[in-house]
Amino acid sequence: MSKSIGIDLGTTNSVAAIKMVDTEILKNHEGDFLTPSCVTTKKRKVPFARPVFIVGKDALEWQKQNPENTITAIKRLMGRSFQNSELQKLLAAKRLSYVVQPHSAGTINSVAVIIEGKEYSPEEISSKILDKIRTDAEKVLNDKVEYAVITVPAYFNDKQKHATRTAALLAGLKIRRLVSEPTAAAISFGVENIKDEDAKTVLIFDFGGGTFDLSVLIISGGQFLEQGKGGDMWLGGEDIDRYIMEYALLETAREFDINDMSGFIDGQDTLIKNRFWGELKAGAEKAKIQLETEDEAYLEVLGLLKDEDGDSIDLDVTLTRETFDELIKPIVDSIIKLTQNIISDINFTKDLIDNVLLVGGSSKIPCIIKAMENEFGKEKVLSHPRPMLAIAEGAAILSHRLAESIECPKCGNMAAQTDQKCSSCGFDLEKYIIEEGVLDIVYSAAHDYYICLENNDRHLFIEKNTPLPCSATEQFKLIHKDQKLLHMKFFNIVNDQEESIGDLWLGIDKNQIEDQKQKNDQLNVTITLNIDENNLISVEAVLKEAPDIKLSKTLSRGKADEKLFVSLEEMINEANKKNYTKFLIIDLTYRALSAIKDIQQVISPETEEINKDIYEKVVIKLEKAKKIAAENQKGKTTVFYAENVLESYGKILPPKNKSKIEQCIKNIEKAEDVGSYEENVKAYDSLSNILNDLGIVNLLMSIENAGTYSMQTDPSKGHKFYKYVDDIMFALAENNEKKATELIAEIMPETNAMLQSIRKETGVIHTDLKR
Ligand code: ADP
Ligand code: MG
Repeated sequence: MSKSIGIDLGTTNSVAAIKMVDTEILKNHEGDFLTPSCVTTKKRKVPFARPVFIVGKDALEWQKQNPENTITAIKRLMGRSFQNSELQKLLAAKRLSYVVQPHSAGTINSVAVIIEGKEYSPEEISSKILDKIRTDAEKVLNDKVEYAVITVPAYFNDKQKHATRTAALLAGLKIRRLVSEPTAAAISFGVENIKDEDAKTVLIFDFGGGTFDLSVLIISGGQFLEQGKGGDMWLGGEDIDRYIMEYALLETAREFDINDMSGFIDGQDTLIKNRFWGELKAGAEKAKIQLETEDEAYLEVLGLLKDEDGDSIDLDVTLTRETFDELIKPIVDSIIKLTQNIISDINFTKDLIDNVLLVGGSSKIPCIIKAMENEFGKEKVLSHPRPMLAIAEGAAILSHRLAESIECPKCGNMAAQTDQKCSSCGFDLEKYIIEEGVLDIVYSAAHDYYICLENNDRHLFIEKNTPLPCSATEQFKLIHKDQKLLHMKFFNIVNDQEESIGDLWLGIDKNQIEDQKQKNDQLNVTITLNIDENNLISVEAVLKEAPDIKLSKTLSRGKADEKLFVSLEEMINEANKKNYTKFLIIDLTYRALSAIKDIQQVISPETEEINKDIYEKVVIKLEKAKKIAAENQKGKTTVFYAENVLESYGKILPPKNKSKIEQCIKNIEKAEDVGSYEENVKAYDSLSNILNDLGIVNLLMSIENAGTYSMQTDPSKGHKFYKYVDDIMFALAENNEKKATELIAEIMPETNAMLQSIRKETGVIHTDLKR
């Protein structure tokens, strides 16, 4: 039977655990509990060979030599936009040793990292870590690992969670649940400490390598209710290491009388420089860990740096606990401030907190424990006995809880999760599960969810803190009766700023609407927004008048499809500024409709893979559309004209012309789909050449068109044109050419005037919604 494990996919370290009867942390291949969340590739001499990935301790070791090609803390980039201000700050401060850029197959809302010149998405890097965890776990368990509960920070939004889910998928893992880290930590504490029937309010304090996360949970009868979250996602043990490094450099500069220490290091040979930084960083972390139990630690980097005369400049610094506490005081102060903030943010007071649970490697630092004890009272603060493993333990307990079947703790037989008693030995399984502390977890929406309406109005869809899963359905109206495109934009408001969570496009084919009156009216759409237990969003949009026109999808997330939708949106915005004629607008609208259909096929819903052929096809189609409009070329309206000719006047056309027109339309379809701009123009030119030669049929078409346009403003005038068409057709049927010519001469001036004014009319492409 395949196994179900718990994984703490951490910024700095990742950990796997399993619960059978007891919870057990799984050692990795190297024999460690912690797998550094670090990834690099090994260069291979064979040309075009696929790179071999190195993950964990070996990758971290490699980082010292080759920091530019070693990825650490990828979790910070998961589901992020390149434009994210925090990421931009990190890049500006040169805090990342590797290259980060927008993904070439995505939008500015995506990111990629570069290893040895090759581009990888954060999901791909993360999947390499998960892949190692899975493979190592399978070795220890001697069984297949198929399912996992994976932990994510409480503040992760839909896009970040979705990225985590994709990483798991790529690593061949099925996710039972994405559980928030504080909840997992509380579950792990709960097993040993919180068996109370009474509700308890706990503050989970998770200070790791790269992040500081705070969460308040109410735990009651095996249920975990999230009350609020806070912290600083860019503050962690690494910052403490940096403070120590700066101190050591300052001391060394003073000792050797060097004015510009960083300039001095920069002047060293690249290989030496990289090794120096690597050793200094490792030394700083080691000293910090030493100071957990000792009063003094030494930091040395010997024999690397040389001055102009070739003399060694050795870094050899003693760090006392006292100096260390002094150094990191600003960090401790800000931690306390953030802790006070979260409590006031959710309108709590300190005395309402029953327990403070400390987890994460950096929570071992004695002055941090002391500061928390001063703040809340010594008796309330609980340090987890295994602060760096707690979250994986909690995930394992939940993974066990969510498995369809469990092992009876008494006889070892498998029983269904829903069984109250073990069918083979009668053991009280229900009571056991309650005693274990986990019954259910109640989640709530992390943000307010909005949709953007006409004139940038906001409409609140789902309110923050609504229990999950939840769903809301609302009715909206298109803003124009000729509207064929609908662009739905969803967003959260985070720190008073709109943060896009994804867009959705719907194309409307009015031929699918049966009711004639409805067809000519503004249409209604019903939009349903669903958020599941994992805070993942999906949207369903259905046209009320034609329920077959609908879309059900998770939102776009900075991938290739979004990139195309952004180009489409740009094309439309540009066209709307240019006073294009209605003919061009109609042409562009149809091109947009066809592009939307294609874009929706670009990403496979199962594997998330990009279909490069369709992608390229759409890129060409959009470029072509822009050029056709800009050069005022003949477009779709010519085809509509030809189709009308065939339908209304097919009978009076010479058969040769008829089949030529049919062939031209076929050629156009092909050119539209796969042809270049030139091929497109050529195909249309052939069609118009034939159409130009149709003589009387063109005159009839002109009169009919004048009629159709008049119907919209002045139906009596419209009928007049139609009557002329009928009369001319009648005269022709009777072979009364004289009469037909007379009638044509009578109505043509009015027709031409009408058509001329139509040709001048301009239009815009509507894509908005209103209430
Ligand atoms: P993450 O959740 O970011 O993966 P962890 O909880 O695994 O992080 O914690 C890693 C951090 O804990 C590192 O910065 C490490 O230096 C720090 N750390 C580990 N042990 C100690 C210790 N004894 N004292 C201080 N910091 C420690
Ligand atoms: Mg962690």
